[in-house]
Order: sequence, then C-alpha cells, then structure tokens
Amino acid sequence: MKYIGAHVSIAGGVENAPLNAHKIGAKAFALFTKNQRQWNAKPLSDKNILEFRVNCEKYGYNPDQILPHNSYLINLGHPDSTALEKSRMAFLDEMQRCEQLGLNRLNFHPGSHLKKVSVEKCLTTIAESINISLDKTKEVCAVIENTAGQGSNLGFTFEQIAEIIHQVKDKERVGVCIDTCHVFTAGYDISSAEGFQKVFDDFERIIGFKYLKGMHLNDSKKELGTKLDRHELIGKGFIGLNAFTFLMNDKRFDHIPMVLETPDSENWDEEIQLLYALQK
Ligand SMILES: [Zn+2]
Ligand SMILES: [Zn+2]
Repeated sequence: MKYIGAHVSIAGGVENAPLNAHKIGAKAFALFTKNQRQWNAKPLSDKNILEFRVNCEKYGYNPDQILPHNSYLINLGHPDSTALEKSRMAFLDEMQRCEQLGLNRLNFHPGSHLKKVSVEKCLTTIAESINISLDKTKEVCAVIENTAGQGSNLGFTFEQIAEIIHQVKDKERVGVCIDTCHVFTAGYDISSAEGFQKVFDDFERIIGFKYLKGMHLNDSKKELGTKLDRHELIGKGFIGLNAFTFLMNDKRFDHIPMVLETPDSENWDEEIQLLYALQK
C-alpha cells in the first residue's frame, strides 16, 4: 500500500491539516506544526491537539501516514554555539509538539556548516543535536532529509547521512526521508531504470531501507548534479515520469508517507491521482 499525499496548509490551526489532506484525496500528508518562518510559536492548545487527533481518526490518517516538517530556520549543525543552542531549543520544541499531536516522526534538513567548520565536525554537531533531542523525548523519530547540497547544506550524499546515523545513539529513533528532487540534483540519476536501481541499491548498502521513514515526491526544474533545489510538477521536470513509475511499483516504498511539495498546490488532487495511476 502506497501512502501518497502532499504538504498541506495549517492555516487556522494544525487541526485543519487532516481536513485539507482529505479534500485532495491524500492518503498521507506533511505539515508544519507551527509557522515555519518564525522562531517562536504559541504552544498548541488542548483544543488544537484534541481536534487534530479527532480529525485524523475521522479521515483515516494514522501516524505512519503523517510526516511533520520542521522550521527552515533551524540549523542543527550551526558552527556558532549561541545560534546552535537556539536551534536545538527550537528543534526540541518541535519534537515535543509532534508528541503532543500523537505523531511518531519529524522530518528536518540536517544542517549547514556555513563554511566555518569542516564537514566532519558539522556532521558530529548534527548527530549530537539529535542525541540531545531524543534524550528529552520518548516517541518521535528524528527523520533526516537528504538535501540537494545547495550552499553549505549537508546531507546531500548517502555517506553523510549514514555518518550522522552512525553517531546517533538510539538507532530506533533516527530515520531518513528521501526527496526525489534533492537526490537528483545532488547527482543521483534516478531517471532511468538502471539509474534508479543503482541509486536505491546504493541507498540500501550505505544507509538501509529500514531507516526510510518518508519520501518527498518532486520533479526537478534543474538538471542532474546541479545542487539546486527547485521543485517541478511530477513528470514535467528533468527527472521525468519514469522514476515515479518505478517508485509507485516498488514495495520498498510501501507504508511510509510520500508527500508532494510541487509548485501547484491547486492541482495536488490531480497529481495524487496521476501517481496512483502509475501503479501496475
Ligand atoms: Zn523536501
Ligand atoms: Zn526542496
């Protein structure tokens, strides 16, 4: 069973996310649990929490179909200690919000070295940040998203992600989300049958499918290996429809939330249908 959906709006409250997902025929959804462009957020109210849980139940979403995404401001590998502390506090707050909502995973971009420290040092800082947040929470799995490698963002190779996981103490509560656009522009060619097979064989060998806790489904406006992060509609970019056909017919991607972050949110219902129609 494939859980396909999209990153839906929380305008008016987090409790609206399952409603918005249901409206577009989604079997999965992603959401922010707060305004993603601000550091501070009001705590979730009892009403937010209760209604979120009620709406998930009503529309048939269990936690394995939901992939919360953290704020873009957070950098868990920040080279400056004051800024790092701020990011760690905000990340812990987000982990706790997920727990309050009964969710079991939080997707985040690993972090950036800002050209001030080595890649190795930054990966260690990120792993430490994860360890700290896992120590202070109980249920939520920290899900590392692969990046395109734009700027000084880390997590654009499977080896970097594997190294972070290696340094996380509780392996049960760390996972990976693969974004198809990011993996492609990071240099992994999933557009052909042979390429797709090789990339995910490498993924299995270097990271392991047991860590795969979600996918972001995006085509790419930019070519292979450009390290740029520009999402395109499914089938309209440089990745092309074939890769999504392989994905939709590959059991290794069953039972995890797979969410669109493509540019035209008005037509997500059609893109979801398009993806399901690729199943043979
Ligand atoms: Zn993404
Ligand atoms: Zn992206």
